Amino acid sequence: MATITFNGKEYQVDENTTILQAAIELGIEIPYFCWHPKLSISGNCRMCLVEVERMPKLVIACMTKVADGMVINTMNERVITAREAVMEFLLINHPLDCPICDEAGECKLQDYAYNYSRGVSRFDETKVHKPKRVPLGPKVMFDAERCILCSRCIRFCEEVVRKPQLHFVQRGDHTTIETFPDEELDNPYSMNVIDICPVGALTSRDFRFRSRVWEMASTESVCIGCARGCNTYLWTRNNQVMRLTPRINESVNSHWMCDYGRLSTYKFVNDDLRIQEPMIKQDDKQIEVAWETALKTAAQRLKEFKPNEIEVIASPFTTNEDNYILAKFTRKITKAKMIEYIDHINEGDEDDILIRADKTPNNTGVRLLGLRENDTGTTLHEIKEAIRQKKVKCLIVMNEDLLEREEFRNILSSLELLIVHSWRHNKTTAIADIVFSAATYAEVEGTITNFEGRVQRLKPAIITKGENRALEGLSMSRWDTFGTAYDKWGRGPRRNARSGWEVFSQIANLMGEKFTYQSAEEVFNEISEKIPAFKGLSYQSIGRLGAMAKTHEKVGV
Ligand code: SF4
Ligand code: SF4
Repeated sequence: MATITFNGKEYQVDENTTILQAAIELGIEIPYFCWHPKLSISGNCRMCLVEVERMPKLVIACMTKVADGMVINTMNERVITAREAVMEFLLINHPLDCPICDEAGECKLQDYAYNYSRGVSRFDETKVHKPKRVPLGPKVMFDAERCILCSRCIRFCEEVVRKPQLHFVQRGDHTTIETFPDEELDNPYSMNVIDICPVGALTSRDFRFRSRVWEMASTESVCIGCARGCNTYLWTRNNQVMRLTPRINESVNSHWMCDYGRLSTYKFVNDDLRIQEPMIKQDDKQIEVAWETALKTAAQRLKEFKPNEIEVIASPFTTNEDNYILAKFTRKITKAKMIEYIDHINEGDEDDILIRADKTPNNTGVRLLGLRENDTGTTLHEIKEAIRQKKVKCLIVMNEDLLEREEFRNILSSLELLIVHSWRHNKTTAIADIVFSAATYAEVEGTITNFEGRVQRLKPAIITKGENRALEGLSMSRWDTFGTAYDKWGRGPRRNARSGWEVFSQIANLMGEKFTYQSAEEVFNEISEKIPAFKGLSYQSIGRLGAMAKTHEKVGV
């Protein structure tokens, strides 16, 4: 350990750390642009200049290691004057773009201009003009005038993705960023440069000009694009998800997320293919009905079948809570022992950074709940054969489009009752007798378990009519989030969707059982009591960053 003094106060710090890292750990503010905890140190922005006594010149805090007895000043007059000079140079050619810049509101340069600059410009010459609106690749747009040449984006491509696609060209105040000849900024993680760019030089082609930052609310969530479960923020406005950004979790995704997850897991929440209301089939036509009607119809029709005529297919796309209740419903109500789900484990590409081949978020959770370890060892193949031979006459499916799969084509039409719980319209919902509109991961409380067994929480970022009980008893800070559920005309949520645990509990109650859960948390508490792998876990212990399930325990109840 080293004893150092910051602004007259003594601290003990790790002797291998730098002045900047020590300051961050101690909560002492030193401004910086180019330093990033996950990239090499380049020391080029000069914003973190501090005074170290007995050193003749100011030093950059990001590159200077602490030493025992060091006395550091971060806010005396000499340091403040130097910082103002650095800001003055950075702002000389910077355009006055803030009113139209996507970064405004979350821009380091804007914040530091308030906190560390002279507040006025002495520069009345013509600014150097550089290219604006340059597509660097399919997902990222570049504005050279806004760039402060910190090199974070260059280092990210080289060091994290190991695909050097960007570099500096030109000299002096004409220096700018370009892609290498015949290259684009196009890699599976390219959009992370937007997050780490400290200014609005790199913007998302998907999100550009869609919302000001301060008009959105952000909710902590988890990406459902693959089994990694990267931690994210869901940014919402008017009950729509506007964008996703990564949330730091060193045990899962560090500071990053992939472009596929960022772009593919929010649009379907908003899109027109979502099922708006529950539906039942009447005279060969599906009609929208109230929840009560759909639930009662399901309960009545299920009574028409013997237990062994009913099959259930669960889903690794949805939460532990949904799958647990579906399994309990199956065992109690239909007495069917066969609870299967479709394995998507090897369906996609994979790398050694984040991306997993398993494109479902909860395969491990469903397996730990024991859905496959059923008494009969029934496989999907056997289910399919049983339907073909008309031994199985009723099928309940949660969030799977079975008709997308070759093996199920031509056999589902022979069922007497097909019940589907689904987020969106698809080939299977099109032929279903009863369709329950499902709430998505962005609308529910719940948990998913990533490929390593880390149980992570989902929280509602937007609301549906079917889930708006979630609004009751919320603290004011949650109201801020849900305040965005109402558009500027005061129109509230339109989709009438519910979680799987709620739907199957309600059907169970209509069939004479007592499923008394009031919240997803109550369901999870029962999971933690009954399922060995989840023993001892609670929403509280899972917290913001997740907690490990005991993956070596016996699966199932
Ligand atoms: S584009 Fe952004 S991240 Fe890249 S060098 Fe310029 S300011 Fe830094
Ligand atoms: S690696 Fe997987 S979990 Fe992470 S952002 Fe990409 S798709 Fe989502």
